[in-house]
Amino acid sequence: MIGSRPLCPLCQYPILRCPCTHITTLKNQLNELNTSTLWNIPIVIIQDHKEALHPYNTVKLLKLIFPQIWILPRDFNAPISSDEFLNSLYKQQFPKDELMVWTLVFPKLYLNANDVRHKSLEKFPFSTDHKNIRQGLILIDGNWKKAKKLYFQSSFLKDLNHLEIQGSYPSHYAVRKSPKHKEDFLSTYEALSYTLKENHQEKIGDVLILGFQKIMNDWKNLSFEKSNE
Ligand SMILES: [Zn+2]
Repeated sequence: MIGSRPLCPLCQYPILRCPCTHITTLKNQLNELNTSTLWNIPIVIIQDHKEALHPYNTVKLLKLIFPQIWILPRDFNAPISSDEFLNSLYKQQFPKDELMVWTLVFPKLYLNANDVRHKSLEKFPFSTDHKNIRQGLILIDGNWKKAKKLYFQSSFLKDLNHLEIQGSYPSHYAVRKSPKHKEDFLSTYEALSYTLKENHQEKIGDVLILGFQKIMNDWKNLSFEKSNE
């Protein structure tokens, strides 16, 4: 059982899989790039509460890298209300008078093309008339079946700007079983990295993906060595 193993106090992953060395290298590489825009993009991850317990969950990796990530734990079977959602967003760091525009990263494939505000042809952050508007990203962390259910239950999410990843990328998240349609499957870490890569943060996206590949290689090798666990 992975869950009963001692955890690294820094990253909270099982010690055998501790990615701290790779994370330190990755953060040093990011610091050599111009990341001032990056750190100013608030990122919200709506996370299935079951997903949070998975030992290989990739949002924990993102949390080690990005200081401005908020995780909203959700029971994906319960409907999400806009009031509740907005409250959780606003009651934290941002001054009340700061205007926020949120963009949801979600594949168009699953949507009814007529009823969403998809802005995939325009790059994030989207142009606005007001300089004082801060633009943030929202991602959903959970399997697609649950993520879709949450999405369709939430009028609030449907009403946001939408952005989808344009390129088609192989997932390096090989430590978990992928769904039938492999080409649609990216981990939340990869989804955020490719979103940044395609939206003015190309080098940052590359550094993130390279670091991810190294961590996944370590994890894969461990899985092969200990295939009985
Ligand atoms: Zn660690």
